[in-house]
Amino acid sequence: MRKVDVAVVGGSFAGVSAAIMLARARRRVVILDEGRTRNRFASASHGFLGQDGAAPQAIRRKGLAEVLAYPTAGLIEGRVERISGKAGAFVLEGTESVQAARVILAYGQRDVLPDIPGLAECWGRTVVQCPYCHGYELADRRTGLLAVEAIPMHHATQLRDWTDDLVLLENGVAVTPEEAAALDRPGLAREAGRVVGVRHTNGAIEAVELEDGRDVMMRALYLVTWQEPASALGEDLGCVLEETPMGRHLKVDEHQRTTVPGVFAAGDLARPYPSATQAAATGNTAGAACHQDLLGLLPTD
Ligand SMILES: Cc1cc2nc3c(=O)[nH]c(=O)nc-3n(C[C@H](O)[C@H](O)[C@H](O)COP(=O)(O)OP(=O)(O)OC[C@H]3O[C@@H](n4cnc5c(N)ncnc54)[C@H](O)[C@@H]3O)c2cc1C
Repeated sequence: MRKVDVAVVGGSFAGVSAAIMLARARRRVVILDEGRTRNRFASASHGFLGQDGAAPQAIRRKGLAEVLAYPTAGLIEGRVERISGKAGAFVLEGTESVQAARVILAYGQRDVLPDIPGLAECWGRTVVQCPYCHGYELADRRTGLLAVEAIPMHHATQLRDWTDDLVLLENGVAVTPEEAAALDRPGLAREAGRVVGVRHTNGAIEAVELEDGRDVMMRALYLVTWQEPASALGEDLGCVLEETPMGRHLKVDEHQRTTVPGVFAAGDLARPYPSATQAAATGNTAGAACHQDLLGLLPTD
């Protein structure tokens, strides 16, 4: 079995940023990654320093090549199925077994999409969540905003900087009088009925279908997804999760430590708002903190 100082589960923005800190500290670090990044549905990633507009997989590959240039860094391509043990001697099982003194979890989140036929095929292209990631490219189109469980008031307000032709699809969700007053503005229309389908050509949305048989034409659609950890490894180890209105993620302190000794977490998995830059930043913190922990230098609380 391969023995390392640190095993990093997830080899994207967070995991690679964590691993490079440990490699630069000349520690044995291995990244275990199955390569299914959260943004794999998009053709371009935006807002990441020096890489604006680059393809997500190109960024990941470049990052991996940089860390693997260090002699103490390694990569195992495949899925981790189980983690057992405790600080000093964790065992990771999956494609290949690894023993590690510390573990950094950077396996990301998955977006739980509403079960509407046609919607998943457009995800990351013309059906999106984050206007900072996609809004510039989708600007000035007839745009939908889909309510899922709650009326997305925050999106309804911020999208005014990307389009003046917005239709709120209430999708059967009740609108309070306060919300109705805030939504009453030029350029914002409302449709109350449930959405039962998305019409598109090769992921380019054309319309949503309402339950009363009408189509609402649009060229872009926003929604707020529910987010869940992409794997259950942290939960299975006993790591505490936090819940926000956007979903569940692992609880960490300012050193990216989870509630289980020797287990760190970084990236989307450890914060409620997805962002490649923040994932890299928290990965950087986790990598350095994990190294400090190996040296016994991290404060105990
Ligand atoms: C459609 C879309 C577009 C986006 N566009 C942008 C953008 O333009 N700009 C921006 O800043 N953010 C964007 N984001 C958000 C961005 O994708 C995330 O913030 C970022 O990918 C988080 O990085 P991460 O390293 O935490 O996780 P991820 O990038 O999701 O990587 C996690 C890695 O862990 C691996 N993994 C998971 N479980 C296991 C396991 N059990 N064993 C081994 N490996 C495992 C996965 O396969 C994956 O490779 C977008 C998100 C989506 C959904």
